[in-house]
Amino acid sequence: MSKAEVCPVHKKCGGCRYQGVPYEEQLKIKEKMVGKLMGKYCKIYPIAGMENPIHYRNKVHAVFDRDRKGNIISGVYKEGTHQVIPVESCMIEDVLADEIIGTIRKLAKSFKIKTYDEDTGYGLLRHVLVKRAFATGQVMVVIVTGSPVFPSRNNFVKALLKEHPQVTTIIHNINDKRTSMVLGEREKVIYGKGYIEDILCGKKFRISAKSFYQVNPVQTEVLYKKAIEAAGFTGKEYVIDAYCGIGTIGMVASDYVDSVVGVELNRDAVRDAIGNAKANNIKNVRFVCDDAGKFMVKLAAVAHRDKSVRLPDVVLMDPPRSGSDEAFLSSLVKMGPKTVVYVSCNPVTLERDVKWLEKKGYKAKGVWPVDMFPFTEHTECVTLIQKSN
Ligand code: SAH
Repeated sequence: MSKAEVCPVHKKCGGCRYQGVPYEEQLKIKEKMVGKLMGKYCKIYPIAGMENPIHYRNKVHAVFDRDRKGNIISGVYKEGTHQVIPVESCMIEDVLADEIIGTIRKLAKSFKIKTYDEDTGYGLLRHVLVKRAFATGQVMVVIVTGSPVFPSRNNFVKALLKEHPQVTTIIHNINDKRTSMVLGEREKVIYGKGYIEDILCGKKFRISAKSFYQVNPVQTEVLYKKAIEAAGFTGKEYVIDAYCGIGTIGMVASDYVDSVVGVELNRDAVRDAIGNAKANNIKNVRFVCDDAGKFMVKLAAVAHRDKSVRLPDVVLMDPPRSGSDEAFLSSLVKMGPKTVVYVSCNPVTLERDVKWLEKKGYKAKGVWPVDMFPFTEHTECVTLIQKSN
């Protein structure tokens, strides 16, 4: 699909709110929206847009179903429903990922694989997730089924690899729960290493099926550079990288600081992060698998009892859309780092958390919006927050 064409399913999909809106205008809308929420605290710098804002998504998810005629379809849920809207190509998704999903639709038909029915729980094929590392070319395909029995799985994999030799790993994930979560607990690597590796800011990162990884790698580099620049490191800092995923921000920062502790809830992501530190020979980072709020509460308590415990100089935080929580923020205030760099994918919760911190002796100094999600209504922001006294 070219830039000028408007996606035929954009209204039903709901992902691309700004279909048909020139890119420059999208950027202005986002800047204004951030200004409305955050302008009362500090300066909003111009948004960093993309040079080529299409097909940027390195992770593509498709849910499988049948249409009324019994044809296998795959795509997205109609906004707010569980009705599947067929998608064959998407202007923001990676082209190869969409092609692989198309091949799986075709193979499912020839292998007579039934799609999973959410109402009855019958059928097999539920979702497909494709992750592609743009820098290395490695491709992961995750096939999610509603039961562990996948007849002719080996031949299915062979046929898929024949059509797409670029695929480097295939995972069979089993999700037999009535849930809107895509991935189930159980998974089996059926081809390759079980993870892919990408390169960001000159460092190599391994990514598992369940680990979070930023979906727009081009803009992720812009985002991380901005976050590190905003922190103004001198080389002496002890840094907490909270909500660290596979450890990317902290490891990129590790070159400019004394040491980093990454905190992340997802076990697979922490395993990736530990592997990533080793693979990049980074010795001054470590990782903790915990709820970020609980970790901060514990650290503040230990430091209160034992004055020799080192307190963080800088907290980098990158919470999910729901933002941070009071446990996290109140412990942060107790420990009193001079600098907080808040990376946020939701300006509404960012504003809420900044408001809270501003009441407790912190001051927002600047917001740098980065357009990580062109054509959608989402905006990412880096915010520098500093202790007032
Ligand atoms: N900084 C990373 C990840 C950001 S996404 C990056 O740039 O790639 C947010 C991350 O927070 C996800 O990895 C998610 O698993 C994690 N997360 C969500 N809730 C959490 C919590 N309560 N405590 C710690 N980590 C959490």
